[in-house]
Formats: sequence, structure tokens, C-alpha cells
Amino acid sequence: MDAADPRQLEFACELVGEAQRIVVLTGAGISTDSGIPDFRGPNGVWTKNPAAEKASNISFYLAEPEVRRAAWQSRLETSAWTAEPNRGHLAVVDLERSGRLHALVTQNIDGLHQRAGVDPDLVIEVHGTIWYSRCWECGDRRLMEEMLQRVRNGEADPACELCGGIVKSDTISFGQSLIPEVIDRAMKVSEQADVLVAIGSTLSVYPVANCVPLAKSRGAKVVIVNAEPTEMDDIADVVVRGSIGEILPQLFAPSSNT
Ligand code: NAD
Repeated sequence: MDAADPRQLEFACELVGEAQRIVVLTGAGISTDSGIPDFRGPNGVWTKNPAAEKASNISFYLAEPEVRRAAWQSRLETSAWTAEPNRGHLAVVDLERSGRLHALVTQNIDGLHQRAGVDPDLVIEVHGTIWYSRCWECGDRRLMEEMLQRVRNGEADPACELCGGIVKSDTISFGQSLIPEVIDRAMKVSEQADVLVAIGSTLSVYPVANCVPLAKSRGAKVVIVNAEPTEMDDIADVVVRGSIGEILPQLFAPSSNT
């Protein structure tokens, strides 16, 4: 990956350095350095296997037992269980320590921001978390590990122990509605930001991508950090193109935040 343009990075550091209420919006790109592939990047799950997009849709999951069995197998094997936070996640912790992280809106479901040490109360997981399961019928929520143990013990598609319903990870699949209170909170904090920094996302998944124009319309400066163009580059005040692991430690370095 090419090094970031130093002028763009410097301007981004100025905007972040002057801000008091920073909202960070992260996507799958912040976790690729931890070994978790994104969807649409060059090594993304969907880029390499377009059929995988179908399996992420809630209607196929509910209708086809075969899709669910494959999903449970892939949950067992996902790299996310052993992934460690990387420099990008740790840089966000540095920003929090400066006292100016207003909120962290994440599309990620891997829990790595909390593992890195960000206060869970500041993290808004708009697409849920893989660390819990949820019954589609009765809503029973429990630690994912309990369900994975049942899969390891031979249940290919374990049903809810309370009602017999279909169980999935407590994430928002494509075609599934978001939790209104959660996405509303993401929009509210975006309205309150003086700088919004969008990191590692194509900004093509809605409604969360709307955080960016909403913040902008309320007067926030918008900084985008991503290896490739995003759908919101046109409205950004500055786009820093390059490696998140290289850029964030500079952007959120304690010295540039005073
Ligand atoms: P995306 O796959 O659409 O885009 C990721 C972007 O990050 C790409 O443009 C890619 O070029 C960039 N990128 C990847 N690694 C990078 C790096 N090291 N440095 C700089 N840029 C890098 O991701 P999205 O916009 O978040 O949308 C994917 C959806 O899938 C989200 O809704 C998310 O919930 C989910 N998802 C989550 C995870 C996770 O939790 N880690 C992983 C895959 C998908």
C-alpha cells in the first residue's frame, strides 16, 4: 500500500487536533490488520467469492437449513475468535485518553475496539456483535460460545433451547432491520460532532453511512481514512488514502491532540 500523502495527513491532523467532540466511524478495514478480512476490499470475502453475499442475507438464512449449517461451520472457524487488536484499534484508545472521543460508531461485529480498551459505553455497534447469539423467534440472547459448543457436539443447526426457533449470531444481516435505538444514537452523536473521522469503510452500507452527510450538514469537518475511494470522498474535508495501521497512530497521537 502506498504511503499517505503527507499534506493530506498533516491537514487531517490539524482538524483532529483542534476538535473537542470527535466521532469515529469504523468499518471492516480497521480489522484487516488483525487478520479479519473485509467484504469489498481487494482481499474481501465478497470480492473473492461473490456467492458469499447471498449467504449474508437474512431471507436465505431463514429459508434454507443448508445456509444455516454452513453459517454455523464458518462461525466455528472464523479468525475473529483469536484476533488481536492492531495499531489502528490502539490509536483510537489513545484518542479516547485525550478526552475528546465523543463516540465510536462501528459497523464491525468483532468486538476488537472494546478488546483494545475503548470504554464500551462509547461504542455503538450498529450491526451487532458476533460474541452473542440471538433467537430469531423469542429474542433469547446468550454467549455465542454456548451455541458453538453445541455445534462442536454435533448439532449442525442448533435451535433455541427456550422456544425451538432459529438462532443466529446477534448481528444485523443484510435485509434485516437495525435496532432503532442503536442507529438513532449513532445519528444523534454524529449531529453533535465537530469532527467525524470515517475509517476503513467503503461508506456504502446504509443507513449508517448517513452519519457522514448528517455530521457534515451540522457543521462537522469530515476526515476519511481508507486505502481506496469511498462513496463519501466528495463531501470530505480531507481524504487520507493509505494504510490505517500507519495513519491512525499519527492522526490520534497524544502529541497531536493537545
Ligand atoms: P467494506 O468491506 O465495504 O470496505 C472496507 C474498506 O476498507 C475497503 O475500501 C478497503 O479498501 C479498506 N481497507 C481494508 N483494509 C485496509 C487497511 N489496512 N488500510 C486502509 N484501508 C483498508 O467494509 P464496510 O464498509 O465496513 O462494510 C462491510 C460490512 O460488513 C459492514 O457492515 C460490517 O458490519 C461487516 N463486516 C464486518 C467485519 C468485522 O467486524 N471486522 C468484517 C467484514 C465485514
